[in-house]
Amino acid sequence: MNSNTIPLSSPHMGESEQKYITETLASNWVTSLGPNLALFEDRLEAYLGSGAVAALNSGTSAIHLGLILLGVQAGDEVLCQTMTFSASANPILYQGATPVFIDSEPDTWNLCPVALEDAIQDRIAKGVTPKAIIAVHLYGVPYQVDAIREVADRYGIPILEDAAEALGSSYKGQRCGTFGDIGIFSFNGNKIITTSSGGALVLRTAALKKKAIFYATQSKDDAPHYQHSTIGYNYRMSNICAAIGLGQLEVLDERLRLRSAMHDFYVELFKSIPGVTVYTVPHADYASNYWLTTLLIRPELTGGITRETVRQALNDAAIDCRPLWKPMHLQPLFENQPYYGGTVSATLFDIGLCMPSGSALTDADRSRIKEVLMGVF
Ligand SMILES: *Cc1c(COP(=O)(O)O)cnc(C)c1O
Repeated sequence: MNSNTIPLSSPHMGESEQKYITETLASNWVTSLGPNLALFEDRLEAYLGSGAVAALNSGTSAIHLGLILLGVQAGDEVLCQTMTFSASANPILYQGATPVFIDSEPDTWNLCPVALEDAIQDRIAKGVTPKAIIAVHLYGVPYQVDAIREVADRYGIPILEDAAEALGSSYKGQRCGTFGDIGIFSFNGNKIITTSSGGALVLRTAALKKKAIFYATQSKDDAPHYQHSTIGYNYRMSNICAAIGLGQLEVLDERLRLRSAMHDFYVELFKSIPGVTVYTVPHADYASNYWLTTLLIRPELTGGITRETVRQALNDAAIDCRPLWKPMHLQPLFENQPYYGGTVSATLFDIGLCMPSGSALTDADRSRIKEVLMGVF
């Protein structure tokens, strides 16, 4: 990437991050302890409307601690949406458990409730009841919340809700991150708001939040010396990162508006181009933060123009774009793990493209993107 490259999704600071950081440096709370953490957690809880938030150093560590809190151990099986970023699935391996991958349905691109139930029944018939379900709101579009919850409850299996990409999204008016038995967010640099690196757990009770923070800060027992009776982790968010997060929360609504405007830009651009669809929520119950706007390009309808034609044209013009997440069951790392479903996610991967969607993009950026796309079509 050169400095002229239009990025997919870049950090976008507001007015007050600098002020919060400067105050934090002056106070010398330059550690994984300090007043910004509780403030950041309180404000995120208020935004979500329910749940107890524990701020951590990444979304990946939040998923790992979430699995630990759900009791996932070596030898267990965990059901996981196959179409996702590898960080959804890697923590299953950290625990020595086995991931069982599930296909998507075509409406939300997320966990297919039918394939999920098939998998549960087959795993139970084979003698193992899965320990947890990892469901993802891909690109900000909520999964089929009610249908997935029904299946999970029928078998008594808890849901770990990966809302890493879905801060600000909602289903039937309720915010994503609050539907799982445990929810997680990421504040990595490419997400809708960032703390540089960071994440959070959303828990159902204050007691569980306390337990999560205990594990995340090396599981120190109550003693004057360092005493440990359980395995601990260094997973807490730093007070400096929380300072950035305080500033970013203040501009979240504006960032959501700008991401949505990028989505509208692509909808307008492609409305008269056959064979290209801009991924949009399937129904009025769903509200997406449109973290990334994504396209499906069907060469049989575009006169032979493929995803790769478009991707290469954009990349040649220094415009960042990328195929959709490659499903986990097609990854070399996971190729021997069980998989349930058909070819929905594999097809999406073949024809899908993530477009530059950041809230910091300018009119000049949009003109450049438009020019290249109109050249291709
Ligand atoms: C970004 C992301 C994560 C991981 O978050 P980090 O903060 O980068 O560790 C997990 N799941 C999904 C779906 C993501 O997009």
